[in-house]
Amino acid sequence: FSPIHVVGGGLAGSEAAWQIAQSGVPVILHEMRGVRGTDAHRTDSLAELVCSNSFRSDDATANAVGVIHAEMRLANSLIIACADRNQVPAGGALAVDRDGFSAAVTQEIDAHPLITVVREEVTGLPPKEWDLAILATGPLTSPSLAQAIQAETGEDHLAFFDAIAPIVHRDSIDMNICWHQSRYDKVGPGGNGKDYINCPMDQAQYNAFLDALIAGDTVGFKEWEGTPYFDGCLPIEVMAERGRETLRHGPMKPMGLTNAHNPTVKAYAVVQLRQDNALGTLFNMVGFQTKLKYGAQAEIFRMIPGLQNAEFARLGGLHRNTYIQSPMLLDRTLTLKSRPGLRFAGQITGCEGYVESAAIGLLAGRFAAAERKGVDPVPPPSTTAFGALLSHITGGHLMSEDEPGKRSFQPMNVNFGLFPELEPGSIVRPEGVKRFRGKDKTIMKRQLMAARALKDCSRWLALG
Ligand code: FAD
Repeated sequence: FSPIHVVGGGLAGSEAAWQIAQSGVPVILHEMRGVRGTDAHRTDSLAELVCSNSFRSDDATANAVGVIHAEMRLANSLIIACADRNQVPAGGALAVDRDGFSAAVTQEIDAHPLITVVREEVTGLPPKEWDLAILATGPLTSPSLAQAIQAETGEDHLAFFDAIAPIVHRDSIDMNICWHQSRYDKVGPGGNGKDYINCPMDQAQYNAFLDALIAGDTVGFKEWEGTPYFDGCLPIEVMAERGRETLRHGPMKPMGLTNAHNPTVKAYAVVQLRQDNALGTLFNMVGFQTKLKYGAQAEIFRMIPGLQNAEFARLGGLHRNTYIQSPMLLDRTLTLKSRPGLRFAGQITGCEGYVESAAIGLLAGRFAAAERKGVDPVPPPSTTAFGALLSHITGGHLMSEDEPGKRSFQPMNVNFGLFPELEPGSIVRPEGVKRFRGKDKTIMKRQLMAARALKDCSRWLALG
């Protein structure tokens, strides 16, 4: 076989190169560190962890990231194997000795007879001679390559200072307090006038919430965060500081909304949540982009009536990020629609996190290797963690109809909200159990989804 070119030796690129080589196809891995650095990396090692040393929960029975670890182990992932070998104690989490981990990945890649590592910056899109290639250059893709990607994809913005709002699991919202309604019952495309979930506040609740927002701990700006805001989205706590009425006239305005539980009393302010995925299992907090610290966010946002038990699929944050509008640009095997043979992998596709980036690298590598062998790549079923994440990236996400120009596709960690629902009737009270509460149902639901994922992943891998 002629080689497949992988650009970027981070989490995704290293995993992609490994998967291709293990399938018997040669790889040329182009990594610029050693010649040119980034603002966050500190070493020349492959798969450097730029911040935390944790791959998060390793619980494959109740946590979606634990499920994706397990799927990666089934698929002989290099990243997870090296993490396992360099584990440090961290409760139920898979945390690693960061230097030991990156050294192990570098060693395995360097020693592989089918992988050649070239230390160079790739400054443009792969030349035509590289008929099969994967771009895995991450959130800090070098500027000249970013420019070339921008020109090819027609993106207005590719790298920006990103403000993201928290996303809540639908089944953790208290619908005895909240209600479904679009402002002024407006019926948009595909909607029914009830598209939003609304959380009402009286004046005392609003004031207490505002005080907490203003007093909340925020994350400081880092030097590498030099790019401008996207769309000028102001963090919610910055708006709160501008005046006590600012939010009530902005994202928390109560106009055009009638509390279905209490129609005669007008809410003083309303927090709205908008459906975030096609499955309807996740809702984002409209206008709540924030740079509050994670702990402060959970505490303050649970003050909102109806969100007192909210579970967050993702908390808000501000950071520099480079990623493409994958749902529009990529097909189900991560190939750029406008350029057959060119795939994207890792955080640049719009997943979030070390594990997710490596998982998407794993898939891109397998798809490219299949293509090189003349076989049609088969994506994993959406019931697997691999497939659920892939669906989010390549099409499961709702594009924003009501806010033209707003970038609604945002990076996300893997979570159970991305998985399709179980068959009706799957969740049944176990024999002998007297009290089967909502919390117990959620635990059972996750266990069943996890078991289904691993079974379906094994079947998918057996296809070759
Ligand atoms: P990377 O691991 O960044 O790999 C991309 C590689 O491409 C790099 O080695 C880079 O040198 C190389 N490259 C770039 N441009 C070129 C080019 N033109 N030619 C050749 N090579 C090139 N996720 C977490 O789970 N936990 C965290 O704590 C965390 N902290 C983060 C902190 C920061 C500052 C950032 C920016 C991101 C963080 N992330 C974190 C998010 C994400 O998980 C990591 O960025 C992850 O490394 C992404 O994997 P990747 O393979 O897509 O990109």
